Amino acid sequence: MTEVSVAKEDVAATGDLVVLKSVNKHFGALHVLQDIELTISRGEVVVVIGPSGSGKSTLCRTINRLETIDSGTITIDGKPLPPEGKELARLRADVGMVFQSFNLFAHKTVLENVTLGQVKVRRTDKQAAEERARALLDRVGVGAQADKYPAQLSGGQQQRVAIARALAMEPKVMLFDEPTSALDPEMINEVLEVMQQLARDGMTMIVVTHEMGFARSAANRVVFMADGRIIEQAAPDQFFSNPRSDRAKDFLSKIL
Ligand code: ADP
Ligand code: MG
Repeated sequence: MTEVSVAKEDVAATGDLVVLKSVNKHFGALHVLQDIELTISRGEVVVVIGPSGSGKSTLCRTINRLETIDSGTITIDGKPLPPEGKELARLRADVGMVFQSFNLFAHKTVLENVTLGQVKVRRTDKQAAEERARALLDRVGVGAQADKYPAQLSGGQQQRVAIARALAMEPKVMLFDEPTSALDPEMINEVLEVMQQLARDGMTMIVVTHEMGFARSAANRVVFMADGRIIEQAAPDQFFSNPRSDRAKDFLSKIL
């Protein structure tokens, strides 16, 4: 593995927030995550790229424990992810997740979508939860849609609601797994702009994306995965102009 060349002063670093050590996972005979070592500092924005099937989604899903791991450790803000129970629900709430498919509750309004988790998991009272929800919906530019149902919104608007819903839990880190891949082209930018703003506001973010413009402008570090391994990682300028591994060179030649 290559050295991480991110200048520490570029990152509002007050410690390591997400730490994966020797993480391994199999799906049957497939060794989908192989000896993953990854440390993400507070305030850092890490973009994960790599060919389809390389394990990017599985990596995200292990970090909020939607998937178990076979060996190794994952700690969030110094606390190891427990296998199950209330403590897991609390820790999972520290990790906001936004998927390719927006995964909103279809039979709840936009406002209810952003309020529910706060009341159920964070035990916020309903009025405070709704106030926060409205503020967040305004922040992502869909305040006027609060009383509509998800199906009445465009894909870009739904994805921004999904971001607001994740933020409502006051997560310590946000995971984005190809958040714009299911969107019509004209809606991609409105979602990327919300993510850019979040990055500027200092949110710690792990973003799986094919949007290399976003990687160049928002990421502190690019992590390149192939075949279940982290092959190399570097600051975006360095990675895009001077990839070191043949796998990364090959991948970039296909997408750039
Ligand atoms: P990526 O997000 O980089 O495209 P994934 O993490 O989705 O890759 O998948 C990595 C590999 O693991 C792929 O070969 C995929 O088919 C396999 N895989 C993913 N989820 C499962 C599952 N639940 N059961 C079996 N195989 C899986
Ligand atoms: Mg994926």
